[in-house]
Amino acid sequence: MTSEEFKLMASSLQPCPNYIAGEWQTATDVNSTPVYNPSTGDVIAETPLGTTRHVAAAVAAAHAAFPAWSETPPTERARVFFRFKMLLEDNFEALAQSVTREHGKTLTEARGDVRRGIEMVEFACGIPSLLMGEVLENVARGIDCDAIRQPLGVCVGITPFNFPAMVPLWMYPVALVCGNTFVLKPSEKVPLTAIRIAELLEKAGLPKGVLNIIHGGRECVDALLTHPNVRAVSFVGSTPVARQVFETATKHGKRVQSNGGAKNYILLMPDADVENSVRGVTEAAFGCAGERCMAGSTAIVVGDAARTVLPTLVEATRNIQVGPTDRAPQPHMGPVITRQHRDRVCELIDQGVKEGAKIQSDGRGVKIASAPNGFFVGATLLDEVRPDMTVMREEIFGPVLNVMRMEDLDSAIEIANRSAFGNGASIFTRSGKAAREFKHRVKAGMVGINIGVPASMAWFPFNGWDDSFFGDLHMQGREGVQFFTQLKVTTSRWFSYGEGSIWGDK
Ligand code: NAD
Repeated sequence: MTSEEFKLMASSLQPCPNYIAGEWQTATDVNSTPVYNPSTGDVIAETPLGTTRHVAAAVAAAHAAFPAWSETPPTERARVFFRFKMLLEDNFEALAQSVTREHGKTLTEARGDVRRGIEMVEFACGIPSLLMGEVLENVARGIDCDAIRQPLGVCVGITPFNFPAMVPLWMYPVALVCGNTFVLKPSEKVPLTAIRIAELLEKAGLPKGVLNIIHGGRECVDALLTHPNVRAVSFVGSTPVARQVFETATKHGKRVQSNGGAKNYILLMPDADVENSVRGVTEAAFGCAGERCMAGSTAIVVGDAARTVLPTLVEATRNIQVGPTDRAPQPHMGPVITRQHRDRVCELIDQGVKEGAKIQSDGRGVKIASAPNGFFVGATLLDEVRPDMTVMREEIFGPVLNVMRMEDLDSAIEIANRSAFGNGASIFTRSGKAAREFKHRVKAGMVGINIGVPASMAWFPFNGWDDSFFGDLHMQGREGVQFFTQLKVTTSRWFSYGEGSIWGDK
């Protein structure tokens, strides 16, 4: 991108309309909250904080659109998403820039965010074959039984700030091709990319009211979780909110899938390939400035790896350049989402040091002359952390890598398994035996072997365990299709009707 294009990208205050019944509507008479360009600290939009009234209008639109959309043949529904996929490809760079502008991740990371979202759309295009039912002929003499999948009705999605493109696309492409209608409430911190993407879906020919977007915070969420016409809720965010969403929505009779936060462990074995494992750990810990639910936030250095791998890891961390991402040249790592979050991350680092961690790379107090108001924290490495420290108990969600030292594989797995979370866990080793042992025993739903971020792709469930997930059926893959459909089982018998039957029987 040229510097002129970068300037253009940074110049205007963007509108943030709701999308209800196919109309883009500016919410009036409501409070709002600022959206920042985290690289500069500039306000780039104002998110309206919708109320129960906006939720009622959006759910009513989705409810009204459901009969016609659910009767639309699945192949026709999927065809809209084939067109959508082409439009996403045509607008790929513009979408990545939108992600970078409102979130602050680097353009390379933003492209990854959009690409993972497009993969969900590709998955959704193939859903008609996953909607096929099952039949057993002759469950008793002359009696057949079949099970078919039908849509639920109005489904809702509530999404976090850290993947403005991918996480909303985990939800509504699957819900819609399954025949449901949808209300999305994006994060109030990053509402703009969700709008750009919905504009493309509208252009692809999605009928009015099938997808609706409302902006807001807690009031909107509470109204969505309790609305009598909402059948299912997909949530992604921090664990306390994920738990509360699950409890409230299930109490109101909704089907719920609710992804929470995480703390993910990466084991570095003494035989790990130094270059590849250091690259894997640094990318996992500091990619997207650590604002990923699959961030590798704790490295457990096993035995002699403290000598063979750790010094290179410390050096690599010190060499990570942080800086503004809304211009060229791009840094290795961008800012965190808000000033408030930057301060919280720095306070947690202070706390870690106070509780006895040894700071080997210190990202506090970073100053960038060309972007003095950006929300920057440099790559930080805290060595010799213990499980009881605050930095080990709380999700930091910033560019901070904790390092623990353990004697052997058994004690490393034991420590990792004490975590209340269960999103991801990885091992770097040359030993198939160690890798197998780890895979078998570690308590996490997504496991990496010589992979730092074992986030599963669209065709597999995004498979958090324990405090990282509340519900039964995960997002993505077949489980996603099961979540957004209900089975109907029919048992049938046909009689022949006496004399004159075309079969000549009685
Ligand atoms: P958050 O929990 O603050 O917000 C998520 C959504 O919930 C937003 O739309 C927000 O408006 C809404 N919300 C916030 N507080 C609420 C409340 N009290 N009541 C009702 N709704 C509320 O999360 P965040 O800061 O936007 O995102 C970061 C978190 O998301 C991290 O904990 C991260 O690990 C998690 N995350 C998890 C996954 C996963 O798949 N497990 C993926 C991405 C992010």
